[in-house]
Amino acid sequence: MGSESRPASTPEGATSGNEAAAPEPAPPASDPQWRAILEGTAGGFGSGRRFLRLIPSSPRCKLCAAPFAGPGAPVMRMVDRGPWAKNPTICGFCFKELERGRGGAEIDLTLLFADIRGSTRLGESMGAASFHQLMGRFYREMTRVLVARDAVVDKFVGDEVVALFIPALTGPDHAGRAVETAREMLKATGHGDGAVPWAPLGIGIHTGPAYVGTVGDTVTDFTALGDTVNVTARLASAAAGGEILVSAHASALAGLQPELETRHLTLRGREQPLDVRVLHV
Ligand SMILES: [Zn+2]
Repeated sequence: MGSESRPASTPEGATSGNEAAAPEPAPPASDPQWRAILEGTAGGFGSGRRFLRLIPSSPRCKLCAAPFAGPGAPVMRMVDRGPWAKNPTICGFCFKELERGRGGAEIDLTLLFADIRGSTRLGESMGAASFHQLMGRFYREMTRVLVARDAVVDKFVGDEVVALFIPALTGPDHAGRAVETAREMLKATGHGDGAVPWAPLGIGIHTGPAYVGTVGDTVTDFTALGDTVNVTARLASAAAGGEILVSAHASALAGLQPELETRHLTLRGREQPLDVRVLHV
């Protein structure tokens, strides 16, 4: 499924890769305190996550990884870590923390977009019930792989998942962690063992500056905004099933071998072609 099929409800300028005609609003101003939290030099971000992520479940709070379903969920609701009504990807506890310290900062991080190639055709050929099951499996498996590697599952948009690798959670090797995670995502969807994958996945990875923090007035979200986000979305769209396209910058940071296959991509709306390394499992 390409960008044309993404829901129109995706907020302007958010991590959707949406090709909206209107210019993007300038990201909010950077806050030094937020920068320290996101870069991991000040504590507090995603507190409790290392413990909460061990409770098996999906979905979860995207910040603290508290389980929203399964046996742990009733306890989580008692301690205010149940889904917040206005944005069920964030728990009530984390929402209050975000509201208290509203803001964010421009930091260097790594982004990962992954989408199911040809999902429209897949949906038509397998029927609604089976396709619904497949999407449920996709959400569960991708959440499991991403959370286990300290990524923030920013959002699922139809057949696409958007993940943030934030230094405070992953350490300085966020690019390397994203590449490792992408390989696990391909394995988890059945690539690489000679069989036909149950979800043919194309993945894009890019590292660069982006505004990370809270956005929105009536519905608060925690997300990343900016050019780095849009480039990553386009890399994922350009990846064939079973391919991971890693920007040259992210490849260098992740220490990928320079002799890997290189592709020169011309991305819509950009004059300079972008060099990417092509990975498989
Ligand atoms: Zn939370």
